[in-house]
Parts: sequence; C-alpha cells; structure tokens
Amino acid sequence: EAGEISVKDIDHFAKTSFPLCMRHLFEKVREDHHLKHGGRMQLGLFLKGVGLKLDDALAFWKAEFAPKVSAERFDKEYAYNIRHNYGREGKRTDYTPYSCQKIISSTPGVGDHHGCPYRHFSEENLKAALVRMGVSSRAVEDVMDKVRNRHYQLACTLTFEAVHGSSCDAGINHPNQYFIDSQKILQ
Ligand code: SF4
Repeated sequence: EAGEISVKDIDHFAKTSFPLCMRHLFEKVREDHHLKHGGRMQLGLFLKGVGLKLDDALAFWKAEFAPKVSAERFDKEYAYNIRHNYGREGKRTDYTPYSCQKIISSTPGVGDHHGCPYRHFSEENLKAALVRMGVSSRAVEDVMDKVRNRHYQLACTLTFEAVHGSSCDAGINHPNQYFIDSQKILQ
C-alpha cells in the first residue's frame, strides 16, 4: 500500500515513478494550467491513491490552475468535485483510482489528455514521450512492437523495465501498482 505524499513531492514522483499516462496529465496541467474533467478525474484519483490527502489535493489543483482560474472561481467550480472524489460530498462514495483496463477503454476527445498513451497517442508522439522518459532506442522499438499488437499493458511493462533497469514479472495492470512497484525499487 502507498504511504502519504505532499504537494511538494509530486514533481519529483512524476519524473521518477508515474506511469506515462499520469506523467502526461501532470505535464499538461503544468503547461496549460487546466485539465478537462476526464483528466482531472484520472490524475486526481491516481494522486489520491498514491497518498495525497484531500487538503493537499485542493492546494495542488488550486495552485496549478492559477492564475488562469482565480481562487474564488476555483472554490466555486472545482473544489466540490475534488471533495466528491474523496467521498466528502454527494453520496459520499470513496472513489477508487482507475485501472489500466478502464483507462485504455476510455475515449478521449479533442482537447482531452486522459487515456492511455500507448493506446491513444500517435506513434510519433508516443516515441517522443518514451525518449523523454529515458527509454533507449532499442527498448522504444520493443515497446512500439507491443503497441502495434495492441498489447498496451505489456508496452507499459516494458517501459517500466527500461526506465528502472529491473524486471516487472507481474506486469502492469494499474497505474497505482506502477507507482508502488517503482517506489519499491527506488527507495
Ligand atoms: Fe497508464 Fe496503464 Fe496505460 Fe500504463 S498501461 S500508461 S499505467 S493506463
């Protein structure tokens, strides 16, 4: 099980232990100071799963959305949804982070950044993203081979192995499992 992380840790973990789907969402919110609903759900529940507490989640999104979204507008339009994800509003369901299967089968539209990059990126964009993660050119070819055969989770597993220099026998089936397995190796 994951421990607890604070807002200031997110940057570091995004570079070392986030799977590509979450790394991409994190980079996008940094760049655009915004994410559409699907992306906020996918990244928000993942962060909750890695141990970001509610108050820290509110502080994180508020800071990322500024200055585009004022603090007042944030409290009005976005805070409810975040509290909702933590089971503090509405039916008070404690929502769980999305599995790979759910993310892979999602259908991101124009301007959306959620989904699984192995499934939803163009070949060119995926290759560039893998190179930025530090995957060697030979390993990139192995990953692309899995992608062409629609084995997206195997492609993610090969990426994990390439960036950690360590095997992942169980395979990747959940972004939060990717994070936990990565931390086991890096800690
Ligand atoms: Fe994320 Fe799973 Fe796709 Fe990996 S296989 S990028 S963890 S959805």
